[in-house]
Amino acid sequence: MSMLKSNKLIEELEKLFPDAKCELNYTNTFELLIAVVLSAQTTDRRVNMVTRKLFTVYPDVYRLASAAQVDVENIISSLGLFRTKAENIIALSKKIVTNFGGEVPNTLEDLTTLPGVGRKSANVVLSEGFGIPAIAVDTHVARVSNRLGLVDSDDTYVIEKTLEEYFPKDDWHKGHNLLVHFGRYFCTAQKPNCLECPFNKVCPYYNKK
Ligand code: SF4
Repeated sequence: MSMLKSNKLIEELEKLFPDAKCELNYTNTFELLIAVVLSAQTTDRRVNMVTRKLFTVYPDVYRLASAAQVDVENIISSLGLFRTKAENIIALSKKIVTNFGGEVPNTLEDLTTLPGVGRKSANVVLSEGFGIPAIAVDTHVARVSNRLGLVDSDDTYVIEKTLEEYFPKDDWHKGHNLLVHFGRYFCTAQKPNCLECPFNKVCPYYNKK
């Protein structure tokens, strides 16, 4: 385990990213869920460019459940994997209507029964949409946690469980958002900004180079 204490990590990350929050646009948990499913392998900015129209044409789960796939594909065609995503968001809407009375479910077990919703997406919806503490491990969280030595694993489940131990539960949501921002804008995959990084004295990745 890293020498870096979690409260110190959060304190420094908050200095770098005082406004770190989910960058997907949404106004309710249904919209959040759809945006999260659409965000696979694409940027939040691109997702926000299509959801404005998508949520206008299909303002609720019932409308999206009865949408024609080709119409949804047309709206989201600028996104990677748009055909699969269109199929998934219609199918998951149908399932929410049929199995969950039209309400987005609020447990990991139920959320992960929905087409296109894996553990990471479900955890985003839980923490961001329902305020239920959870740590969603995306590519950024996985990379920076390993670089910082908080965890030594490529397995997202192991990373999630390790970070749950590392951060107090009250900090899970905040910790996730801060690590995502840190990975997106500072400790990036190709060009981490190590020289200006507040953790460069303790970062194993930097110090073994
Ligand atoms: S020192 Fe470099 S690799 Fe380590 S956390 Fe900072 S930016 Fe990332």
